[in-house]
Amino acid sequence: MKVPFLDLKAQYSSIKDEIDAAVSAVIQETAFISGKFAEQFEEAFANYLGVDHCIGCANGTDAIEMALAAIGLQPDDEVIVPANSFIATSEAVTTAGGRVVFADVDPTSYNITVETITPKITDKTKAVIAVHLYGNPVDMDPIIDIAGRQNLKIFEDSAQAHGALYKGRHIGTIGDAGTFSFYPGKNLGAYGDAGAIVTNNAEINVFCRRIKNHGRLDKFDHELEGRNSRLDGIQGAILEVKLKHLEKWLEGRRSVAERYNELLSDVAGLTLPVQTEDSRHVYHLYVIQVDNRDEVRSRLKERGVSTGVHYPVALPFLGAYQHLKHSPADFPVAHRAMSRILSLPMCPELSQEQIEYVAENVKACL
Ligand SMILES: *Cc1c(COP(=O)(O)O)cnc(C)c1O
Repeated sequence: MKVPFLDLKAQYSSIKDEIDAAVSAVIQETAFISGKFAEQFEEAFANYLGVDHCIGCANGTDAIEMALAAIGLQPDDEVIVPANSFIATSEAVTTAGGRVVFADVDPTSYNITVETITPKITDKTKAVIAVHLYGNPVDMDPIIDIAGRQNLKIFEDSAQAHGALYKGRHIGTIGDAGTFSFYPGKNLGAYGDAGAIVTNNAEINVFCRRIKNHGRLDKFDHELEGRNSRLDGIQGAILEVKLKHLEKWLEGRRSVAERYNELLSDVAGLTLPVQTEDSRHVYHLYVIQVDNRDEVRSRLKERGVSTGVHYPVALPFLGAYQHLKHSPADFPVAHRAMSRILSLPMCPELSQEQIEYVAENVKACL
C-alpha cells in the first residue's frame, strides 16, 4: 500500500466543479488583483473567525512582517519567537527591522509558554510571536496577561492553525493581530501563494491595508511607501470555495488523529501528540516522537509510508542564526525534539485502511 503524506489531488477531485466555476468567474470578470473576489474572501474569513478585519495579502511571511511593521520596530527592538517553527516566523522579525530572540518550547505541546518566554523579556522586548505549531493552540491567557503587564504586543502566527480554538475563541483573534498562510499544503490552502492578517485593531488594519498596496487606500493616495503584497482574485475565489468545506475537513483531520491515538496508544518508545486543555487542535501535522527517528523514517518509506520532519533543525541552530552563537543547552527541549520528531501522513482524505496501515507499520518499524 502507498500512503502519501498529504493528497491535494484527492481534495481537488472532491470539489472540482465548484473550483473550476470559481476560477472561470474570475477570468470572465478579469478581477485578477485584489478586487471583488479577494474582498469577498476577506469578508467571509473575518466572519468565520469572528474578527473585525481581514487583510488579504501575498503570503503568510509577508503577513507576519507587515503586522510587525504596524508597530514600528526600531533596530534594537526585540521580538520573542519560538525556537521550533518554520523560519518565516523569525525571518519576518528581521525584515521588519527588529531583533530575533528565541524562546524554548514546551516538551508536550511544542509551543512557547509563559515560562519559556518570561526569562527572555528585557527592556527592549516589544512583541512576542505565538506560533500555534502543528495546529495546536498556544496557552494564550498567561501570555496575554504578562504582555499586558509589560506592555508587549502579541502576534499569533496561525499559519498551521486555521480553525483551531482556544477556550472557544478562534486562534488568530486573541492577540493584537493574527497572521495566516494559505500555502497549498496548509489546512486552508490556495492554489498558489496567499496569506492574511486579521485584527480587531483599526490602526493595524489601516496600516496593513496601506503597505500591502504601495502605501495607498485609494488609487493615487500614497501616504507612505509600501510594497506590493496583494491577494489575487483567483486565490481569493478558490479560498472562498474552500472555506465552506473547512469545518468538515478539520473534523476529518481530528478523526484521523483520534484513530492514530487509539491505534498507537500504549506503544513503548512512542510519544503521541497531546491536545492542550480547553482547546481544539486542528492537526495540520500529527507529530510523534521516536528514538531512532531517521531509521524509523526510512523503514516506513520502504513500506510505502511517506512522512515528514517539522523541523529537522530548530531555528537557533540554522546557518542563518550562527551569529547568535547558541548552543544546545540554550534550548534543550527544541534541541532534543529535532532528532526525535516525525510527522505521520495527515489529511482528511486518508482512508481507514491507510490509517491502520500507517499505525501497523510504525509499530513494526520501532
Ligand atoms: C507556512 C508557514 C509560514 C509562512 O507562510 P508562507 O505563506 O509560505 O509565506 C509561516 N509560519 C509558519 C509556522 C508556517 O508554517
